[in-house]
Amino acid sequence: MPQLLTHPEWCDPAECDAVGPFAQHRGRARRIGGPRPGDVHIAARLTCTSDDPLPEAPVSVELVLTRTEHPADAAYLLDRSTAHHLHAALGELLPAMTA
Ligand SMILES: [Zn+2]
Repeated sequence: MPQLLTHPEWCDPAECDAVGPFAQHRGRARRIGGPRPGDVHIAARLTCTSDDPLPEAPVSVELVLTRTEHPADAAYLLDRSTAHHLHAALGELLPAMTA
């Protein structure tokens, strides 16, 4: 009897690849990007492998960075600690930036 596949509550059915070649649950991507040529576009979303049982499967923040002038993507998986430190670092840096 086949097991029913369960998804984390944050999993987006349109993005989920739990039974696909990447075997990953994927959340809705938050997209950030500037309008100028050369600006970096960032997609951030939650992801975890569908090979590990829920809810123990480690969840990562997936960041995909794309430069508008260069089609190659750079993808990074951040664990909870690294994502927390990135959030804190951006919180420290942002107030020093001028509009
Ligand atoms: Zn899923």
